[in-house]
Amino acid sequence: MPEICNLSPTFPFNFEIIRSKRKSLVIYVKSGNVEVRSPRNTPKKWIHEFVFEKKDWILEELERQKRHFRQRLVIAEGREVTYLGRPRTIVVLISDAQEVRVTRDFLFIYARKNSPEKLELLFNNWLKEKAHEYMTSESRKVAKQLGVEHKLKKVVFRKTKSKWGHCCQNGTIQYNWLAMMAPKEVINYLIVHECSHLRHMDHSKRFWNTVESVCPRFKELRNWLAENGHRFWSRQ
Ligand SMILES: [Zn+2]
Repeated sequence: MPEICNLSPTFPFNFEIIRSKRKSLVIYVKSGNVEVRSPRNTPKKWIHEFVFEKKDWILEELERQKRHFRQRLVIAEGREVTYLGRPRTIVVLISDAQEVRVTRDFLFIYARKNSPEKLELLFNNWLKEKAHEYMTSESRKVAKQLGVEHKLKKVVFRKTKSKWGHCCQNGTIQYNWLAMMAPKEVINYLIVHECSHLRHMDHSKRFWNTVESVCPRFKELRNWLAENGHRFWSRQ
């Protein structure tokens, strides 16, 4: 059983005591958690005093780590992830039935194990599924609107580094499912862009006119994606 402690109700952090055969006390700060490794029989008071004395260093360390984490997408308890452009706080719940569910403000990840790899995998599978549901049917709709539904053969999903979407001569459209984190207007622009290639396989004036006919704000949305797209990549 983990031994979670707090020195007082106003003390700024909790910490966990892990006792083992070791000979001295040591503090580890990682992922927003404070861990004290202690010899088996060290009195609790000694440990508490040790933590109190190291308080400033621990707070600094917690702050520093928070700053570093903020700069990247991390799929973990309490972190934020955007879905359809709206930030949601991740809540991890241990469960045999693995599932991801989204509400207005939260993203619940039900996982057998709370490990970064597991959460990342569950999140990605879920996001890909959502992309499948939304982007496939939306592509058919837009293709129909553009009078090229007969040319759209297949919609596939890949996590490609270089681009958000791609349209092949054979009528296969490929999207990066990470785009589902962007606002809906941005996703829709991406869909209009790729479907417009079913009419024009280039980036000519005629191509952009086609894009504009369905998506008048395309320039703004294209810029948004260029400036913000990197935030959807996890560094895990
Ligand atoms: Zn293009």
